[in-house]
Amino acid sequence: MSNTPRLQAVEETRKKAAEADRVVVKAGTNSLTDSSSNVDDEKLEKLVGDIMDLRSRGKEIILVSSGAIGAGKGRVDQPAETVEDMQAVSTVGQSHLMRRYTESFERYDQKIAQILLSQEDLVDSDRFSNFRNSVETLLEWGVVPIINENDAIAIEEIKIGDNDMISASVAVGVEADLLVTLTDVGGVYTGNPKEDPEAKKIEAVGRNYAEVQEIVEASSSAEFGGIRTKVQGAREVNEHGIPAIIAESTEPDILEKIVSGESVGTIFIPVNGASSTTDGDANE
Ligand code: GLU
Repeated sequence: MSNTPRLQAVEETRKKAAEADRVVVKAGTNSLTDSSSNVDDEKLEKLVGDIMDLRSRGKEIILVSSGAIGAGKGRVDQPAETVEDMQAVSTVGQSHLMRRYTESFERYDQKIAQILLSQEDLVDSDRFSNFRNSVETLLEWGVVPIINENDAIAIEEIKIGDNDMISASVAVGVEADLLVTLTDVGGVYTGNPKEDPEAKKIEAVGRNYAEVQEIVEASSSAEFGGIRTKVQGAREVNEHGIPAIIAESTEPDILEKIVSGESVGTIFIPVNGASSTTDGDANE
């Protein structure tokens, strides 16, 4: 990689991430369900514990959680093949997932809320501003909002697509200080790490974005919500001055490590620099 980001820009971004007051955390289906499409209690409890590490430091957390369809499939004794089946399945999974979140957060006396979004809510300014007001109020009350796409009413053509884009739009909309995307791989690699043992982790993305994009395009499978959309989402928030990190959901104390300034996953440097004291990473 010829355009590796400057060390200073990486370090400043890491510091900014560590100091973030308002954090959007995105957890994918694989980080919440098992291979037979049921909620994986161990994974969910770990995620909740990781989030509570940040809550105990007084940080505001917004969780964007997938898993409605993933968790629903294991609960309905029906073949879920058509779009209509998936829409219905998502409602079963979503309510079950929320029940498990409620129980798990209760161990810490932490209240949570559910918000389901559709495409219109992101593009219509009145609807988006209502959404933002609700989130602000919940955060003021110390509640953790848990957001997902409203899969029951989103037909294929109007689907937002995946929660990687939702989490980026939410992070920008609520002026978060950091977006953390948790996945079952540890960040962005020079190849698909599930297939290529030689693939190396890319520590930081900034002025090397075009190169990274090419690598990701070439190594991504068509897999829904693969690394490509995670990279796009991270870059989108970078363009609004927000740092992003793609990291491994199974890594112990992953969120705690991020707010302690440790180097984990792949960090994305805001486009206009990590601070006003430098010209940033001179991305373009
Ligand atoms: N909204 C979908 C679900 O909860 C998942 C979308 C995604 O994986 O990004 O099942």
